[in-house]
Amino acid sequence: MSWLLVALMLAGWTTGNLLVHLQGRITAPAVACVWAGQAVATGVILHALLSGNQPSIRWLKAGLDLLIVAIVLILIGAQILTTGASGSASLTAVLVSGLDVVLFGLLVWFAASRRLPGPSLVLVLGAAVLALAFDLSSAVHGRRLSLPGEPSQVLGVVVMLMFGVAALHPSMTKTFSAETFGQRRRPSTSLLGLLPLVLVPLGVSWVAELCGAQSLPRWSLLAAGASIAALCLVRGSTALRSSEHLAEHDSLTDLVNRHGLARAFDEAAPAGGVSLLLIDVDEFRQVNDAHGHDVGDVLLLRLRDRLILATGEEGVVARLGGDEFGVLVRTDLAPGVAGHFLNLLQDPFVVGDLVLQIGASIGIADARAGTTLAELFTHADVAMYAAKAAGGDQALTFHPEMRAAVARRLTLTRQIRQLLGAGDPDVGHLEIKYQPLVDLGSGQLIGAEALVRWRHPELGLLAPDAFLGLVSSNSLDAELDAAVLRDVLAQLAAWRDQGLRVLPVSVNLTRDSLDDHRLADRVLEALARHSLPPSLLHLEITEHHQLSADTPAERTLERLDTAGVQIYLDDYGTGYTSLEYLLRFPIRMLKLDRSVVTPLNEAQIQLVAAVNTMAESLGLEVLAEGIETGEQRDQLIELGIRYGQGYLFARPLSASEYAESAFQEVRTGPVPAARRDG
Ligand code: C2E
Ligand code: MG
Ligand code: MG
Repeated sequence: MSWLLVALMLAGWTTGNLLVHLQGRITAPAVACVWAGQAVATGVILHALLSGNQPSIRWLKAGLDLLIVAIVLILIGAQILTTGASGSASLTAVLVSGLDVVLFGLLVWFAASRRLPGPSLVLVLGAAVLALAFDLSSAVHGRRLSLPGEPSQVLGVVVMLMFGVAALHPSMTKTFSAETFGQRRRPSTSLLGLLPLVLVPLGVSWVAELCGAQSLPRWSLLAAGASIAALCLVRGSTALRSSEHLAEHDSLTDLVNRHGLARAFDEAAPAGGVSLLLIDVDEFRQVNDAHGHDVGDVLLLRLRDRLILATGEEGVVARLGGDEFGVLVRTDLAPGVAGHFLNLLQDPFVVGDLVLQIGASIGIADARAGTTLAELFTHADVAMYAAKAAGGDQALTFHPEMRAAVARRLTLTRQIRQLLGAGDPDVGHLEIKYQPLVDLGSGQLIGAEALVRWRHPELGLLAPDAFLGLVSSNSLDAELDAAVLRDVLAQLAAWRDQGLRVLPVSVNLTRDSLDDHRLADRVLEALARHSLPPSLLHLEITEHHQLSADTPAERTLERLDTAGVQIYLDDYGTGYTSLEYLLRFPIRMLKLDRSVVTPLNEAQIQLVAAVNTMAESLGLEVLAEGIETGEQRDQLIELGIRYGQGYLFARPLSASEYAESAFQEVRTGPVPAARRDG
């Protein structure tokens, strides 16, 4: 269809020019033929430009179509009349070249606004530039066509040859195909780049008039007009390209962004069999917080490189924001890409002096026929959530049952926000359990650890495992710590007011709390408010998350320790087990993690002995967590460990159970135990 129209257009132009050649002058039929060609050209361009399919504006476009065809026909009439009357018609000649420029502008806009401009479109554009030059040259002579022997006739022939080649080129079918029409770039940016073209016809005819009076050579007008138009085009298209690049790329990694990925999806989806990988870097926020954004940025660049390596040539890698990446890849390759990337993450990243071990959670969603990108994103997001909830550092492919689990998680997230934010009673309340800490040798109680639970209206009593992850991923850690501290201090004050013998309680602190430079003030103020001595409160910190260099934790803990609040190092043996924390912070007690003392085999015995020796030399007490059997307790006593905690002595107890068993007179045996947690 499109090349038939081009053939018609060329036929019109050729006949017109042939007639001039044969008759030796410009006659009305010759002009009519050229205009017929022009009308077809206008039709081709309009058809291309107005090919939208919204029914509401279709009638408007058809009306516009008619209007332009009418204008062309009127112009033909005017040209024939004026040519017949005087043989020269400067008015129509100027209008003709004006219309040429407008059509040319529209054609350029079309090329710039589509995503697949093939060679034939480039040829058509080139031919249109030359046609413009040809018409302008005729216009400067006050005519519509050039006479036999004039040099501009060569231009006319070249123009037609170029149109012909463009029409025959295989890419022509694609250029004016439904696919090309559908694949628009953002028209606003493309139009903006081409705005200067509007000035060209006005400028040239103006200059022609001015310079004509001063009889400047005609070629200089043409050269000036052409260079201005060329300049405008180059400027416009460069600006367009760079604004489009910016619109579709991420400035840090230069990967495509969400828009770029959408474009890649549009291009890949019709062929089918694509999958989306959504990759979320586990604990990236901690790296950013602890080491600053510069380190975060370098890490993102390194992650990008490994992701590109894992993806290979076949897929499109995108950064979707923050620490989230996306990969669009053939479905059969998707699991391989995910696996390869997770493997590459096994090697730690070295950024300056830092060695960072990073994991990722990957959600994979496969597109079926008709799946939109939005659906694909939702599915991949659900799968990614599931991978994160399952502990992270793994890839999961979406299946519909995942939705229920994710919906549950989202509900819990909303509820935990309500709970820790406004303290909404509809979503239940926090409950603190107290697990006794004992002197292993004498069996005497030395205090308790406060362990939080969530009494949920539908789900019952939730253990920390079920919600601490949510608390942390919603940055609510400090709120949780504050709530637990509030409850514990109120409880201690209540016991004291009841005249009971109050022993210290240790409260777990998250890293976020340690980053709060007002923590010491808050804790000491709260103690003072309840008139409690600081020695009744112990705080447990862990070494899982490395603290940043500029953390206020050192000063905070130093102040608390000086005031009498003892600091315990929790879960020793599971984190970095470094000396750094012991030297940097005023630690009073090491709590050996359950995994270090269970089942207490030969290797563990040696480790416990070594840690105990080190602790002794540093003047630290040691407590073993998770003691479940008498045998374990005896071995630990033999190894020199003084304190313990575990089901052998008691499970975490409610405040009243703990008060009942703990605040009787000093005992010699173990605290009566084995009451169920809950
Ligand atoms: P943790 O601070 O190391 O607490 C000790 C955990 O070991 C508790 O689990 C306790 O119930 C359990 N445990 C004690 N003895 C035994 C035993 O003999 N055998 C076994 N199998 N387990 C034993 P829980 O209460 O589920 O707490 C888990 C973790 O959640 C805690 O580990 C702590 O890291 C965190 N957590 C608990 N409460 C709070 C809190 O109030 N604030 C913060 N920030 N974290 C908390
Ligand atoms: Mg603890
Ligand atoms: Mg622990």
